[in-house]
Amino acid sequence: MRLQKMFVVIICVFGMLGMSNFDTQIVLGDPLPKIKTLIIDGDNNHNWKATTPVLQKILEDSGRFTVEVITLMKDGNKYNVGAVTANLEQNLVGNEFSPVFDKFDLIVSNFNNHRGGAWSEKTRAAFEKYVSDGHGFVVYHAADNAFREWREYNKMIALGGWGGRNQMDGPYLYINNEDKIIRDESAGPGGSHGKQWAFLITNREPEHPVMKGLPKEFRHSNDELYDKMRGPAENVTILATAYAQDTTKRHEPMLLAIDYGKGRVFHTTLGHDVPQIKSVAFIITFLRGAEWAATGNVTIPVPNDMPSNDVPVVRE
Ligand code: ZN
Repeated sequence: MRLQKMFVVIICVFGMLGMSNFDTQIVLGDPLPKIKTLIIDGDNNHNWKATTPVLQKILEDSGRFTVEVITLMKDGNKYNVGAVTANLEQNLVGNEFSPVFDKFDLIVSNFNNHRGGAWSEKTRAAFEKYVSDGHGFVVYHAADNAFREWREYNKMIALGGWGGRNQMDGPYLYINNEDKIIRDESAGPGGSHGKQWAFLITNREPEHPVMKGLPKEFRHSNDELYDKMRGPAENVTILATAYAQDTTKRHEPMLLAIDYGKGRVFHTTLGHDVPQIKSVAFIITFLRGAEWAATGNVTIPVPNDMPSNDVPVVRE
């Protein structure tokens, strides 16, 4: 009896030591180098002025990322640099948008060329090389509306919507009621959504680094559920879906992981505006997707306030 008790005490002490080491790492800062991140915004038919600072705070508060922001302004048919965070200013020459992308480990797009401008051929080629060489890219919500005409961008994001997209741009991609992945070549527009509601996210790849440890189902707050997205859909893994009960009655892709050359792309269709990106379902998948895109691994833990399939959890 006595020995058993001692054994239990030893186990507890070791357990606590283990825990305290773990806690110390989290509290004192991750020993891993921070992920240098650039958020691009400035032309988006969404509330980018309000969402970018929240995205930046989510990334920085995790302790895993440093963030700079570049804001692009349309000038004729091209984009010039309108505003940048202070550090970045020193690295820019003139106002043409032609950054040295590989100063960063990760690019996050909160940008769509809603007003119809284009990036220069040089900038497109540099961005394609940046991602295919093995860097990370995160496509956030309406950034998947951008650049219908740019084939390589569409390969990076796998699926896009609006901007005149149709069957010429690639198949619809979804999961049917028998859990089968469907590539649907039928004619029709790409990109749509019904009214906002608090839908369930279904984890389709519980062994993928982004999704590992997340519940099988978890509740997101009121948001647009993107449906009928279509595109090249190459080298893509559907990480999570939501059932579009009011529109297509399909399990529509919400989170995607795409291989582009040696690079990784995380595509989240979630997060229409500020209230939506304060939902823990958004925050945690965005953070883990961003870390995976930049490094191929995920160290950001599943938080205690992770929602179940019951009610959404929103952080203030
Ligand atoms: Zn939206």
